[in-house]
Amino acid sequence: MPDLIKDVEVFAVRRRLETPMFDANLKMEWTGNTVVRLITESGLEGWGMADGSPIAEFILRRFREAVIGSDPLANEEIWSRMFQLIRPSGRKGVALIAMSAIDIAVWDLRGKLLGLPVYRLLGGADRLIPVYASVGFLSMPEDEVVEKSLEYVREGIKTLKIKIGYDNGRNIAADVRRVKKVRDAVGRGIEIIVDANGVYDAATAVRFAKAAADMDISLFEEPTHADDIAGLRRIRDTGLIPVASGENEYTKYGCRDMVIAEAVDVLQFDITRVGGVTEMMKAAAIAQAWNVKLAPHFYPQFSAHILSAAPNGLYLEVFPENLSKPIITNQPPIAGGFYEIPEAPGMGLEFDSEYVSAFKFSL
Ligand SMILES: [Mg+2]
Repeated sequence: MPDLIKDVEVFAVRRRLETPMFDANLKMEWTGNTVVRLITESGLEGWGMADGSPIAEFILRRFREAVIGSDPLANEEIWSRMFQLIRPSGRKGVALIAMSAIDIAVWDLRGKLLGLPVYRLLGGADRLIPVYASVGFLSMPEDEVVEKSLEYVREGIKTLKIKIGYDNGRNIAADVRRVKKVRDAVGRGIEIIVDANGVYDAATAVRFAKAAADMDISLFEEPTHADDIAGLRRIRDTGLIPVASGENEYTKYGCRDMVIAEAVDVLQFDITRVGGVTEMMKAAAIAQAWNVKLAPHFYPQFSAHILSAAPNGLYLEVFPENLSKPIITNQPPIAGGFYEIPEAPGMGLEFDSEYVSAFKFSL
C-alpha cells in the first residue's frame, strides 16, 4: 500500500541580516527561505526549501491540492502534474521555484520511505563532494576578501569564487584589482572563479577577460545577463576564460537551449529553481551529452546528492554566510575541501520544526 501525502505545510522564514550584503545587481537586507513540509498518512515528513517568500502563497494556492493524495514514490507523476498546472502562468521564475521546493521534499520522502539517502537512490557512490568557496559578496571589502580567501585555503579549499561587477559593470579596473589581490595572496595553485552576476555586456566581458589574462581565472560566471545566450557564446568563442551560467535558468528546456547554443562550459543550475531533484538529473544528463560539466549554484545540502550521482558533476558551492543555519540543525561538515553527505535516509537533514513553526504561512 503506498504511503500517500496527506498534507502540505509551508513556512515563510524571513530574517534581517546582521550585515546587509550586495553583489553586482542585488542588495540583500533580509534573507528569506520558504520551507515545505509534506506529511504522509503514516506520519513521515518530507522537507524541502527554496528562496523567497512569494512562493509560499504559490505553493498553497496552486500546488497543494494537486500534491495531496499523491504517492511520493511517483515523483515523475507529481512533477508532470504540477508543470501542467503552471503551463499558462509561468514556466520559469516563481512557479518553478515553488515546484522545486516541493520536488525536493518529495525526494526526501522517497528516501525515508525506502530507507536510503537520496544520493544512493540516484545511483551515486561518493559521500565526499569537492567544494568551492564563494568568498563574500561585492559588499565585502577587498582586504576582507583576501583574508577570508587565505582562511579557506588553510582549511583545504582548492577553488575560490570572487564577485566582480563594480559600478554596475562599468569599472573593469576595480574588478581586475579585486581579483589580482586574491591571486597575489593565494598564489598559483588555487583555482579562481569570477562572478559578474550578469552585469557586463559581451564586449565588456571580453575586455575584462583580456585585462585579467595573466591571472589564470578558471571560470567566468554569468558574465552577461542570463537571457543573453548569444553574448555568452561570443565570450566563450574568444577562448580567454571558460564560461559558466545557469543559476537563473529553469527546466530541462532551458538547459537544452544553453547547450545547443554552445554557450557554456559549465552549467550552474540551482536545484531550488530548475525544478528540484527530478529536473536537475535531466539537466545533468543533457549537459553530459554535450560534454558540459555541472557545478550547481548554492543549496549544497540538496545539490550534494546530485553531484554524487551525476558523472559530469564538478564541485559544490559553499558560502561563508550559511543562511540556512537556524533552519537545518545538523549542518553537514565541510573539511579538507570536501562536503560530507549525511548517511541518514532522504536528504539526511534535520529541519528545526519548532523554529520554522513561528513562520507558518496560511492563506
Ligand atoms: Mg552567481
